[in-house]
Amino acid sequence: MSAHCLACGAIWTADETCRGRFEACLALEYEHPRAFGAVHHLTVLCYMLQHNEYSRESWLEARQMLFDFMHNNVLPAEMRQRNRSRMDSGRRTTSITRAPKLAEFSTIVWSHTIAQVRLDTPEIYCADVQQWAAAVLADTASSQ
Ligand SMILES: [Zn+2]
Repeated sequence: MSAHCLACGAIWTADETCRGRFEACLALEYEHPRAFGAVHHLTVLCYMLQHNEYSRESWLEARQMLFDFMHNNVLPAEMRQRNRSRMDSGRRTTSITRAPKLAEFSTIVWSHTIAQVRLDTPEIYCADVQQWAAAVLADTASSQ
């Protein structure tokens, strides 16, 4: 039996789901922070963006964060610093997940999903997550 994810369109044959695969990825990343965990910041953003877990405002911010990681060489530590000072300034007023969602989400066609991320070795995993992140940015280029 196969099923497809309503959010990202991934096709699963066994009992797997995107959430289940995401949790397996996170478990590997936490267990091996320097190897699998090297792409943790990308995994989380890609998954959350593709599954519409954020409000519209936070979705757009998350996409910009992904862009900065991939194209502006921003490091995870710098991003944490940036977000911390912004939150300290009291400018963040809306909830990350409760406010209205991105209206055009359902029109996005995802070319790459978490189902294509292989967990075999850290090298394969990190390369697949990088490819996934690049595809997420390309697929959402009109939603920035
Ligand atoms: Zn999915």
